Amino acid sequence: MLKKIYYPSPNFEPRPSGIPLDMIVLHYTDMPNAEEALARLCDPASKVSAHFLIHKEGPLYQLVDPKHRAWHAGTSFWGGEGDINSRSIGIELDNLGHTFGPEPFPVSQMTTLYHLLEELTQIYGIPAHRVVGHSDVAPLRKQDPGELFPWHDLAKKGFGLWSSQKTPPLSSSVSLSFLEVQQALRDIGYECPLTGVWDDDSQKVCRVFQQHFTPVELTGYPSDLTCQTLQELLGIVKSLAQSRSFLG
Ligand SMILES: [Zn+2]
Repeated sequence: MLKKIYYPSPNFEPRPSGIPLDMIVLHYTDMPNAEEALARLCDPASKVSAHFLIHKEGPLYQLVDPKHRAWHAGTSFWGGEGDINSRSIGIELDNLGHTFGPEPFPVSQMTTLYHLLEELTQIYGIPAHRVVGHSDVAPLRKQDPGELFPWHDLAKKGFGLWSSQKTPPLSSSVSLSFLEVQQALRDIGYECPLTGVWDDDSQKVCRVFQQHFTPVELTGYPSDLTCQTLQELLGIVKSLAQSRSFLG
């Protein structure tokens, strides 16, 4: 078991019965330092919390026991389900965020995160691909953990979804219609409008998708790279769904 510093927050409640614990949501604290973030996550008036916080130098704090429902995701949605707090574990990464940063995530912090993800997915049987960012489950409100978060490195350790697409393809034949892009984003898990019109909400969803999967390109517009990445991820998501139904 990973060494934890217990730093209890009063901001939690029982998990509702009948909802599986099957996701992990990653956040950045968006604050000047870990001490201020811990204080906020333990302040009853803030009404926010997370199960864990990882200091940028590596130490791991446990604020809420994962058997309880912490208050980290807010209004949220993924893969057809709302209320992500009820089914997830929330991990805060001590980081300056978009407000005080940008700041990369140091190796010491990521090493603790990998070990924690190994432990949590094993103990609770959470599928390793169901590790997402706060922005993925709340794309209209949130940007964390942001485009500097090393999702690719995380995927190499076996956590989260990833596509191998990193450079824009030479051919433009992969283009999708707006409606097809919206449908693909929904099939991957995002709450995206399905109108065929590239409105503000679609742009926001597309931009958080790009922060996660194609951080070289943060336009909010479905380029060839976006479309190709979406198609590759759809293939991965479909094969995961098939193996799940195969396993029953
Ligand atoms: Zn967050």
